[in-house]
Amino acid sequence: MTTPDASLILLNPGPVTLSAGVREAAVSADLCHREPEFQELQAEVLGGLLQVYGCAFGEWVPVALGGSGTAAMEAMISSLAPADARLLVPQNGVYGERSARIAAIHGIAHEVLDHAWGGELDMDAIERALATGRFSHVVMVHHETTTGRLNPLEDVADLCARHGARLLVDAVSSFGAEAIDFAHPALDACAATSNKCLHGIPGLAFVLCRATALSGELPERSLYLHLPRWAGPQAAGSTPFTPAVNAWLALHEALGELEAQGGWQGRRERYLQLAEQVRAALEGMGVEPWLDPASSSCVLRSYRLPAGLTYNLLHDWLRHKGFVIYAGQGGLAGEMFRISTMGEIGDSDMERLLAAFKEIMAS
Ligand SMILES: *Cc1c(COP(=O)(O)O)cnc(C)c1O
Repeated sequence: MTTPDASLILLNPGPVTLSAGVREAAVSADLCHREPEFQELQAEVLGGLLQVYGCAFGEWVPVALGGSGTAAMEAMISSLAPADARLLVPQNGVYGERSARIAAIHGIAHEVLDHAWGGELDMDAIERALATGRFSHVVMVHHETTTGRLNPLEDVADLCARHGARLLVDAVSSFGAEAIDFAHPALDACAATSNKCLHGIPGLAFVLCRATALSGELPERSLYLHLPRWAGPQAAGSTPFTPAVNAWLALHEALGELEAQGGWQGRRERYLQLAEQVRAALEGMGVEPWLDPASSSCVLRSYRLPAGLTYNLLHDWLRHKGFVIYAGQGGLAGEMFRISTMGEIGDSDMERLLAAFKEIMAS
């Protein structure tokens, strides 16, 4: 294999460019998960996950298991839907579609509210659906990474509260950098991962569950992904299966760095500053946002491929200059590219990126 270029800056939506501290922490020790060192590490990380949004211990239960963000989504949906659940799944991108697919695979009754990719959620349609009283839960994506759209979590939660539905959230690309109101009475769970806004290494998925949602009668649809199987042992300082110990080590360090940098609010400000710096500079070169900035997250922005430039040309040029950008998904591949400003990105990195853009736009 070719030796990976350690100086490459990742502008894809996870995994992210790591800080030196997190990279070192990941390989800082060999750990047996049946020894006290791991117990302590696990307890501190689980406590740290609660602290990111000030969730009360006891009211909220953090459950972490080895896997990518999709494992967190699948664990949340397959574990927390009771046998008689009926899910409403508004979808406006890849990850909303994935939620519905997970429900289908596990034989969980659900209905999809289809929107165009990148489209605004139709709140009237969601309200009309919930008003029928047929839905026990709404499953929504907070930040739809397909296009960068930040869906209105608070408004959907309010509709859920009004109509007696519970809310399950895919917060994989927003946890740690966008506002999430864990005090909202309709919110039952958020699924997320270590390697996006938290700046850890890939391999650790987690779900923050309202304790009452976890303690209900929940059918066992999976051996590995069944959250109650993890929650009990983890609360008791144990673990049912071999954990991704290196990802736990890295997340411990990453959570400390997040706190030192001002928590999720500090991270949001930093992402926003970088995202707006890129947007303003690109607009100055004639590159238009695909989605308007006011509807976009602080985490990722989508842009229209400029006329006469293919994604591959743009990607390869920027890669040659030290940056990895991301293509549009599915039908958007021909018209869009995406830039995420997650990860350990310095001001001078952004200046180099924009200089590289300027060169290719001028040629
Ligand atoms: C990244 C992401 C996921 C999970 O993707 P994995 O490739 O499984 O880590 C899920 N939902 C959203 C919104 C994401 O951005």
